[in-house]
Amino acid sequence: MLIDTAIAADMTLPLFGTQINCDRCQNIGMRIGPSGFFEQCPAIVVGEPHAEPNPAGTILRHFADVLKRRHIVPNSHAFAVAKTLTAYTTDEPCPRDVLLDTHFTWTSSRLRNLHHAVEELRGTWLLPVGSRKEEPSGYWIITDVDDFAAWATRYRSAPITQLSTLHRVARANFPLYAEQLELDFWSDIARPDDSPPVDGAGDALAPDISLPPAA
Ligand SMILES: [Zn+2]
Repeated sequence: MLIDTAIAADMTLPLFGTQINCDRCQNIGMRIGPSGFFEQCPAIVVGEPHAEPNPAGTILRHFADVLKRRHIVPNSHAFAVAKTLTAYTTDEPCPRDVLLDTHFTWTSSRLRNLHHAVEELRGTWLLPVGSRKEEPSGYWIITDVDDFAAWATRYRSAPITQLSTLHRVARANFPLYAEQLELDFWSDIARPDDSPPVDGAGDALAPDISLPPAA
């Protein structure tokens, strides 16, 4: 009834019901149910009017649905962080302190836990969480490939262990860009330079390195 009144009060909206804010799922359309798994928002299940998520929320809904179909129990804390991020964009990212004050007051190592949650969203959920240290600094969910490329350039300078996360997130969200990353990666490897030989590249071993005897 309240929802009907809200719609009637603003019939000029170009899209029916776009301003209905669902307090059960924050418009994502998915929530973590009593079972601990993702489920569709009950309002959608019973056919109530329901707002569509914004572009960031649409991406989050997609990956929540993937975890649901794979019967993976989501980390509810990481989901709460992700939902907060849907309200922000690359132009207006979520300040780090907002995330710390909203989601990490329970721990003495707040920064480490924030980084851990963000890496979980990237590595396990494959959610394209952008981050930037320069102004405007903060975190957001990346929704277009140019923004992803800009973030990836910064992220690629990170330790090598993060490169596989980068590639998996790219493949899950921006497949063409993932292909470009692969091309760049292999041309980097093929480029002759002073870097140590790659495992298995026996031809590149320096003469003073002896190979183990053949079995
Ligand atoms: Zn809902």
